[in-house]
Amino acid sequence: MRVIDAHTHTWSREIISKRDLDSRRIAAKKLGVEPVLDSTVDSLRDAMNVSGVERAVVLPIDSAFHQEMPLSLTEKTDWHSNEVAEDPNIVSFVGLDPRRGKAGLKELERAVKEKGCRGWKMYPPNGFYPDDKEFDPYYDLCVDLNIPIIIHQGFTPRHKHVKYARPAYVDRVAADFPELNIVLAHVGYPWQDESLMIASKNPNVSVDVSGWQVFASSVPLKVHQMVADAKLMRVFPNRMLFGSDFPLFEYTMSLKKWRDFFTGLQLPAELIDQGYKQVREDEIEKVMWKNATRIIFGETP
Ligand SMILES: [Zn+2]
Repeated sequence: MRVIDAHTHTWSREIISKRDLDSRRIAAKKLGVEPVLDSTVDSLRDAMNVSGVERAVVLPIDSAFHQEMPLSLTEKTDWHSNEVAEDPNIVSFVGLDPRRGKAGLKELERAVKEKGCRGWKMYPPNGFYPDDKEFDPYYDLCVDLNIPIIIHQGFTPRHKHVKYARPAYVDRVAADFPELNIVLAHVGYPWQDESLMIASKNPNVSVDVSGWQVFASSVPLKVHQMVADAKLMRVFPNRMLFGSDFPLFEYTMSLKKWRDFFTGLQLPAELIDQGYKQVREDEIEKVMWKNATRIIFGETP
């Protein structure tokens, strides 16, 4: 089965903040693993080759309003877009905080038109609600540029503020900009029901399953329940995207294992007995690559 990973990250220790370096070290110590201080496109490409992942989407984050960053925004956009420029199978989004106002709008347009960025990665836990009216010019521009937005939702690292990451704060944007494609990352865990409700009522909203390998490796029933509920709400199969958050969860489940888990996903008898409908292979195929082909790459699968 073909696979697109709609949610990955790359960085080197030169481009992330001191604070992020520190929190990576602290988190790794807690888990008893080595901190990943560099994870460039080469390690992503290696993991893709090993896992049979055909295409991947890199999502940079603009944290300049929250911490001191070593690169300016344009330098960061260029670092990421240059990194993927030679590889037709890996694309980058632009990471942008909409509180940048007019300068941010200019950068969004430059990133898409000149640097080949395929969409906008938004990270509300840096301190803003996506439905602030002030940001509407950004949404208009995304419609004009015909690009999707992937919005971080739910569980957030310690120094960021999780209250901004509730799916309910995306609803007004989705409803007022029906032509704008929005992806709620991580199915908004632990607010997956809220994410599915927002996606269910707004046909322009999808979810990505990145990060859920934490559960696949320990309590797989949690993944099964989420997929079963998504199917009940008609978000699965047409508006769910496979993703990994690579390399952040490699310690719990490799990209290859996560890909294998999802391509072979079947709901267990205990859910079918409750009345949930079994998932089919042609539906899983939409999640693994067809939906991303349409929503992110703008191609007909
Ligand atoms: Zn992520």
